Amino acid sequence: MRRIAVVGGSIAAVTAASWLRVRGFEGTVTLLSAETEQPYTRVPLSKTVLSGEATDASTALPPLDDSVDVRLGTRAVSLNTRARRIVIDNGEPVPYDGLVIATGGRARRLSPPGMAGEKVLRTLADCAALREDLARAHSVLVIGAGLLGMEIASTCRTLGLQVTVVDRDPPLRRVLGPVLAQVITDAAREHGVVLRTVPGGVRLVGSRTLEGVDADGDFLTADVIVSAVGDVPAVDWLTGSGLRLDRGVVTDSRGRVANDIVAAGDAAVVRGVGRRPHWTNAVEQARVAADALLGEDVAGVALPSYFWTNQFGVEVKVAGEPAGLGEPDMVDVDGSSMLLRWSAGAAATVNHTVPVRKLRQLASAT
Ligand SMILES: Cc1cc2nc3c(=O)[nH]c(=O)nc-3n(C[C@H](O)[C@H](O)[C@H](O)COP(=O)(O)OP(=O)(O)OC[C@H]3O[C@@H](n4cnc5c(N)ncnc54)[C@H](O)[C@@H]3O)c2cc1C
Repeated sequence: MRRIAVVGGSIAAVTAASWLRVRGFEGTVTLLSAETEQPYTRVPLSKTVLSGEATDASTALPPLDDSVDVRLGTRAVSLNTRARRIVIDNGEPVPYDGLVIATGGRARRLSPPGMAGEKVLRTLADCAALREDLARAHSVLVIGAGLLGMEIASTCRTLGLQVTVVDRDPPLRRVLGPVLAQVITDAAREHGVVLRTVPGGVRLVGSRTLEGVDADGDFLTADVIVSAVGDVPAVDWLTGSGLRLDRGVVTDSRGRVANDIVAAGDAAVVRGVGRRPHWTNAVEQARVAADALLGEDVAGVALPSYFWTNQFGVEVKVAGEPAGLGEPDMVDVDGSSMLLRWSAGAAATVNHTVPVRKLRQLASAT
């Protein structure tokens, strides 16, 4: 293998490219990123960068070694696996011997094409546009009470805005389960957020511009309307490639898609496990996938998924997926700090310092 192409421009792509060098790969590594900015991390975009506390520049990921050919503003538009060739947006072919797919996801939008007014938050540009709008606003309506929507709500409260969050489910239930979700819901209410659950879902109101939403007969609106209703895996460029797509590109536990192709991060769906759209998983999958591409005999990602969130003064860390597991079997409370464990394979902390490794061990312990 002489030439490895890495398609993507964020944490999974950068980790894979640098890991190939760590593992001693001396051939050409070319990273193709659709974004024009140097690779950056998205994690602070809903937190300190949105509030203005941290700068855009602070999100930059550590620069890649000069030996990696980083091509910014370069979008892959199609893939021919037989010819081992990617085509980029100016029509140029990029040949490869090995390929890492790390194209992540993009924000899902609710409004139809041509309707203005719906803000989303996925990129630095989205963050800058939203921050600018918030600076002129008194109120914000957040559609979607998942991790991202609730983080945006929290940041908007620190900016002094009136905040309403609307979702078809109670906040965070689908991702954290009832106990942890309640901790954050209580904190959000204490911070003055209005939470609305609309089991049937909201209906957008407006024609050319989004004016608000119909929530079971109530019209809700605000100076700024932002939706945080999940992301769509950015795998359109793989349509027609013959690779298996199922809400992402399907991989085995080592990220392998084919002999000469691997995938990692938010674009990947691991067979039997699913998609794990969180930062730490993107890093770990990228390393394992790079190893697999080089033919290293390493184990697949076997650790429980890990993610964290910070909102309303509450820091939650989660190993495994507690959402479907009901009530935890163990809850250890010490003031405002908590440690929870589900014997079916999850553990979590609230405002509690514990190394990630330990939390995962706790989640896996039977
Ligand atoms: C605002 C926000 C806050 C978050 N906070 C947390 C958090 O607190 N904790 C946590 O665990 N996780 C968090 N996450 C999730 C985490 O950021 C993602 O899991 C992570 O970014 C996934 O990395 P990735 O590299 O797989 O994909 P992405 O970050 O989506 O990057 C994909 C890259 O590929 C590029 N690309 C896409 N298509 C093409 C193409 N055809 N050709 C070339 N390049 C392409 C994109 O432009 C982008 O640069 C957050 C996400 C967001 C949006």
